[in-house]
Amino acid sequence: MPHPAYHIGVNSFFGLALRRWVDPFVIVAVNVIIDLEVLFSSGFPDSHRHWYFHTFLVGGIIGAVFGMLCWLFRGIISRAMKLVRIQYKPKLWKMCVAGTLGVWVHVLMDGLVSWDVQPFRPFTNSRALWRMFKHTYPVDQVRRWIFIISVIFSVAAVILYILAVKKFNKSSAEAKDVSCKSEI
Ligand SMILES: [Zn+2]
Repeated sequence: MPHPAYHIGVNSFFGLALRRWVDPFVIVAVNVIIDLEVLFSSGFPDSHRHWYFHTFLVGGIIGAVFGMLCWLFRGIISRAMKLVRIQYKPKLWKMCVAGTLGVWVHVLMDGLVSWDVQPFRPFTNSRALWRMFKHTYPVDQVRRWIFIISVIFSVAAVILYILAVKKFNKSSAEAKDVSCKSEI
């Protein structure tokens, strides 16, 4: 399991880069929900601890349901997004897409570095992602790649965030301008 911070960097990037189609809050928050499975698995940290949450099908559905639940709290989430100065319009379909996409990216990353991720459960117990590089590269090297990729995505996410804040500030200044003019 890569550190949760790795997931947050990569998913923040996708949330900000694709925010026309993807809810930026849900795509990050769903990573915490998915890793609850690891915390509650028995025998932590040595035994098999990635089960159904870490799969494309069941995990993807859980992600979409999480998106629907977030829709109920859209007022609070909107206020939080305003506090961090990101323009935000909650939409149910965007929240569901974000939940599923966030889980898929999470499973892809965990699957490459954790021996017990079975991404295609319940159809097969194959550990396809883990086996992809297992015979050609040592796992430590694959983990290093994932770490480097996470850092690159995190830096890109910070740049996108700065641009989003600038856009937010610009449009709130314009909105203030318009309301001042209409008062005159
Ligand atoms: Zn995980």
